[in-house]
Amino acid sequence: MKLYNTLTREIEEFTTRVPNVVSMYTCGPTVYHFAHIGNLRTYIMEDILEKYFKYRGYRVNRVMNITDIGHLSSDADTGEDKMLLGAKREKKTVLEVAKYYTDAFLQDCAKLNIVIPEKFIPATVEVEEFIQVISVLEKKGFAYKAGGNVYFDTSKLKEYHKFFKFKEDDLEEGVRDGVEKDKNKRNKNDFVLWFTQSKFDDQALKWDSPWGIGYPGWHIECSCISMKYLGEYVDIKCGGVDNIFPHHTNEIAQSEAFLGHEWCKHWFHTLHLNIVGGKMSKSLGNFLTLSSLEENGHTAMEYRFFCLQSHYRKALQFSEESFTNAANAYQKLKEKILALQESGAVDRGIFDKFTTKFIAAMDNDLNTALAITTIYDILKENTNASTKIALLKSFDSVLSLNLFVQEEWIQKEKKDIALTEREILAKIEERARAKKEKDFAKADAIRDALAKEGIVLIDTASGTTYTIK
Ligand code: AMP
Ligand code: ZN
Repeated sequence: MKLYNTLTREIEEFTTRVPNVVSMYTCGPTVYHFAHIGNLRTYIMEDILEKYFKYRGYRVNRVMNITDIGHLSSDADTGEDKMLLGAKREKKTVLEVAKYYTDAFLQDCAKLNIVIPEKFIPATVEVEEFIQVISVLEKKGFAYKAGGNVYFDTSKLKEYHKFFKFKEDDLEEGVRDGVEKDKNKRNKNDFVLWFTQSKFDDQALKWDSPWGIGYPGWHIECSCISMKYLGEYVDIKCGGVDNIFPHHTNEIAQSEAFLGHEWCKHWFHTLHLNIVGGKMSKSLGNFLTLSSLEENGHTAMEYRFFCLQSHYRKALQFSEESFTNAANAYQKLKEKILALQESGAVDRGIFDKFTTKFIAAMDNDLNTALAITTIYDILKENTNASTKIALLKSFDSVLSLNLFVQEEWIQKEKKDIALTEREILAKIEERARAKKEKDFAKADAIRDALAKEGIVLIDTASGTTYTIK
């Protein structure tokens, strides 16, 4: 299987350290607002990647973080904390905002058939871990204190910018217009590991640390959560293209300084979804959400189809016209597929011929657009319906386009979970009580019983939430 690697800038054979097992890390949402459909494009492509690994016989250990602390308005560690901005905007506490938008994200993902990893870890529950790693970086001479904050010293590295041979000026990218530069930095690309000082002194969540009461920088969370749950090597790390610099560049710097060896060999980045006038962005406020598409009479699956029709390494332009075209094409395709009635035995020759085509497309740097063309080719093929159905079901295990599900059935299916939402919430409360009383056996039994029903519990700093598998 071949994938483009941002680190080498080449399409290369994907390899894993442990045969047939992929360790995969994906940067998760900053939960101060709804995910916009651009963010969701990135998560759809990562979902396809994970499902395709599985289709090709890999076991996948995957982790995703939830950024609920430390992500400032500028990715270069200046400006106000995004979570605090969200709390002020909505007159809620930071934890309320985090819970609300984490739940909203999970609902969007469920509608889009994006499977969330069981290890979906909020930064706020791992702060002790961050403090330990920062302490080691300090002992090794990679960190310094200035103006009350702890910074990573990029001048201590042989090579800081591993992704591209950036010109010095290009490295300014992470500092956004209108956000002033931090004068405490010894080198302009140094970044904050731990804040104790901020112009914005109403930071809501703070922890004690060897450097004083404060809070972690954004980049350290992904390094630490990855190392804690996936070990000192990770096969592939993923995110949107804007994560390359400074976020992933800084992650490599601090992780390799901490570990003393190469950390992640393969980097997968999805290009942006743009709208007329430029990039869609939460901070610019020019964004569309999945709900806004639904309010206009569209479905989540139409949006998934729209994304899969283009290659993840091409910027995708969203316009009313291009999306409506994709939505119509999806509905027509579904009509044809739902009209198929099983007949005859599966023709093995034809099945293998199209499976080979599908694999050739997806093995070639995840060419989902070509995989979708294969679906149309199957429908045109002169063969019986059973063969077509078997092929389409097999491909849909990766593409997850609900090709065989009537839209109204989708609703029903979601409601057909054995428990109502109220019952699930009651179970979550019962488990919380059991944990408080240190009856961990009971707490685990409740979690396991829910898991059997396809309800996966996710513990966050602000309580427990759930997702439906
Ligand atoms: P955030 O919630 O801002 O931390 O972003 C979540 C994910 O969405 C990250 O992987 C980003 O790189 C990605 N992302 C941000 N903007 C876009 C966009 N316009 N199109 C596609 N992906 C994006
Ligand atoms: Zn990250």
